[in-house]
Amino acid sequence: MTTPHYIDGRWVEGQGSDCIVVHNPSDGLPFSELMAASTRQVDQAVAAARRALTGWKAVSANERANYLRGFAEQLGQRRDELIALQMRNNGKPRHEAEIDLDDAIATFAYYADLADQLPGKNRDVSLAAPGFTARTRLEPVGVVGLIVPWNFPLVTSAWKLAPALAAGCTVVLKPSEVTPLIEQAYGQIAEQLDLPAGVLNIVNGKAETGAALSSHSGLDKLSFTGSNGVGSQVMRAAASQCRPVTLELGGKSAIVVFDDCDVDQAVEWIVAGITWNAGQMCSATSRLLVQEGIADTLLPRLQEALEKLRVGNPLSEEVDMGPLTSQAQWLKVAGYFATAREEGLKCLAGGKPLDREGWFVSPTLYVDVPDNSRLWVEEIFGPVLCARRFGSEAEAIHQANDSRFGLVATVCSADLQRAERVADALEVGHVWINSVQAVFVETSWGGTKGSGIGRELGPWGLSGYLSVKHVTRCLG
Ligand code: NAD
Repeated sequence: MTTPHYIDGRWVEGQGSDCIVVHNPSDGLPFSELMAASTRQVDQAVAAARRALTGWKAVSANERANYLRGFAEQLGQRRDELIALQMRNNGKPRHEAEIDLDDAIATFAYYADLADQLPGKNRDVSLAAPGFTARTRLEPVGVVGLIVPWNFPLVTSAWKLAPALAAGCTVVLKPSEVTPLIEQAYGQIAEQLDLPAGVLNIVNGKAETGAALSSHSGLDKLSFTGSNGVGSQVMRAAASQCRPVTLELGGKSAIVVFDDCDVDQAVEWIVAGITWNAGQMCSATSRLLVQEGIADTLLPRLQEALEKLRVGNPLSEEVDMGPLTSQAQWLKVAGYFATAREEGLKCLAGGKPLDREGWFVSPTLYVDVPDNSRLWVEEIFGPVLCARRFGSEAEAIHQANDSRFGLVATVCSADLQRAERVADALEVGHVWINSVQAVFVETSWGGTKGSGIGRELGPWGLSGYLSVKHVTRCLG
């Protein structure tokens, strides 16, 4: 039993009623457990963040930047342990766990640099009207609640935590109950760096704890990453108090492959876009749109590539793809395999759970999927790819945009002018041309339509935690 909650600078045991059992998805066995935080402990965490706010706001931006650099450095020093934990609790292959850690480190380093630049943004405004001066002051939004999912826990929390702390906000973070251990590192690092008590608080728990936080009257803002269902509850709670909310939600993203592509290269991009993190990515490119002229060559090669992938336990084998992270997710994906059979979809690869211990499924490809199929329309969150053919560029754009989601897309073409044109026409937050899932801290993250509200990363990620104030003075 671990002591998982970090409240007001101290580690405390959970007083809630839920016992959270932490599993290794590669064998389905539990390896740790903890008691969730009670609603009272959520109150204590929010109160601690409120008490710490005045002091943290008064800490200079450069000093805050130094704390963030400390986070980056300490994450680096704990490299082996944090990679091993992600492999064990998420089922990530080693190279993916390494990339996650590097991403978190880069995020803290990047927002340290932006914090250093913050004082320079407090500038005088040039007014056309005579007789007045005005100046801009960027201030922290205040006490923020951060609720995150389990698929990239270290990264998603870093994307929220680093800009929030850089801005001068104080924070209550609620990790996912599926992966509650990895973010404890952030509390331990805060302790090591002597971050003032209450600036960062971590409460673990399930839906009840998340709801207690998202509906808490003591917050000034909530930033949520997770499913659309819970996102809309979080938004309702924010609406009832008229306070801002950032939502990073689901996706059903397209990868558009034109017939001038190198087939082997295209297959590599398609496979990565649906099997990275076992397809458990909001940004998975799970709808393949392939142009008529290349489809008959590409689809058999894609089938072969998916069937060749080494699927297994990342702790004991060299693998390309690990298990799904939770039993609930495994059951959900298995449910979609059953739906595909009921719908009579044509399966070229996979289409079933693997017959071994742990929560494994085969990388899966369905072809000629009708656009009213549930598998074409709904987010599955597993390595399940659905393919359709298209003729013209206009048809590809129409099919790609025909979704209630709008997170990302990939465009593959040797004709760069066309690729840029298609990228401009896609109704999403991020488009990759001839690459896949390349996320840089300097570019934004977030979606249009049902994929969310607001942007993370880049300067936009910091803006989400800043409030703009102007001071206007009459000279007369
Ligand atoms: P989820 O919505 O079930 O849970 C997310 C978090 O919300 C967890 O911490 C959970 O405990 C908490 N929660 C659950 N019920 C709550 C409630 N009633 N009130 C407040 N909090 C509550 O999502 P998940 O299964 O953990 O993650 C998968 C989903 O996250 C997918 O839909 C995926 O697309 C999305 N996601 C989006 C992004 C993005 O950047 N757009 C990134 C990663 C994941």
